[in-house]
Amino acid sequence: MENQIWMQPEDAARTLRAGGIVAIPTETVYGLAGDAFNELALAKIFNAKKRPTFDPLILHIASLADVEKVAREFPLKARMLAEKFWPGPLTLVLPKRESVPDLATSSLPSVAVRFPVHPLAQEIIRLAETPLAAPSANLFKHLSPTTAQHVAEQLAGRIDGIVDGGMCSVGVESTIVSFAQEEPRLLRPGAITLEMLQECIGEVIVAKSSSSPGSSMESPGMLDTHYQPRTPLLYKSTLNGNLPVKTARLAFGKQLGVLPPTLNLSESGNLIEATANLYAYMHQLDEGDYDLILVDEIPSEGLGRALNDRLRRASSKKFF
Ligand code: AMP
Ligand code: MG
Repeated sequence: MENQIWMQPEDAARTLRAGGIVAIPTETVYGLAGDAFNELALAKIFNAKKRPTFDPLILHIASLADVEKVAREFPLKARMLAEKFWPGPLTLVLPKRESVPDLATSSLPSVAVRFPVHPLAQEIIRLAETPLAAPSANLFKHLSPTTAQHVAEQLAGRIDGIVDGGMCSVGVESTIVSFAQEEPRLLRPGAITLEMLQECIGEVIVAKSSSSPGSSMESPGMLDTHYQPRTPLLYKSTLNGNLPVKTARLAFGKQLGVLPPTLNLSESGNLIEATANLYAYMHQLDEGDYDLILVDEIPSEGLGRALNDRLRRASSKKFF
């Protein structure tokens, strides 16, 4: 099975056209792709990821013109963002077309769309000849995969194949901007930063996390716990008690910490490098038999906002 899981783009596209599900590389994280218009394929995605169906999927396209296959309207500011940042790590939430299955959007009247820049992702979407729904290729609430090996560890045996495109260059999930309401809203920070969005279209409202139990979620990727390693991780929360003997420190830059760094996200304090390394280093420390992962503070500006967002959600709410 292990050797049968690896696929070339042509096999992946054939499998996708036949309603199968395949993990594909993108510049953000690996996506678990299925035909966005095939409900059975969508159901297979939710099942393989153990993802609740209230968490809608992002649909991936391979040209600007394809927006109209899934969206009913393309407001001016959304179009300006698309023209500036597509192809790239930006998802736009737009009023959906009737023909998009409810399963893809969790019955929301809007649809999330992205045009990735990764050449293999583009090739597979083109060969599949349909928009592809592709949430991150990991089990629900677990760490997102930034290498094909991460995908295999979590999903081998549950999916039809994996296309190996090496390590993801960005390393965190796409920025999500919603046009479901009057004003543009940033639902999830990512590599296209708030500053970049505002420079292009003016004011963008930063949506607050809305994951209190029972509330309908504007962006379920905003669940308070998400992107978590199995090992407890502490970020900007205080420890009540002593450090466990087996504590790892995930450092950033040249800060002094209570322990020497176990791994350093970026010794020079470069946020792009730190973002690209984040999930891979969390995976590595998670496998390292530690009882706790302590993470250095990261400045919350520009790309640092996305890092802070993911680390806050990865952080254990209770430790000791
Ligand atoms: P991922 O888990 O990276 O596939 O990202 C999927 C996330 O995109 C979901 O968890 C939502 O936060 C967001 N999303 C997808 N569709 C919509 C939508 N129609 N409205 C708002 N957010 C959406
Ligand atoms: Mg995800």
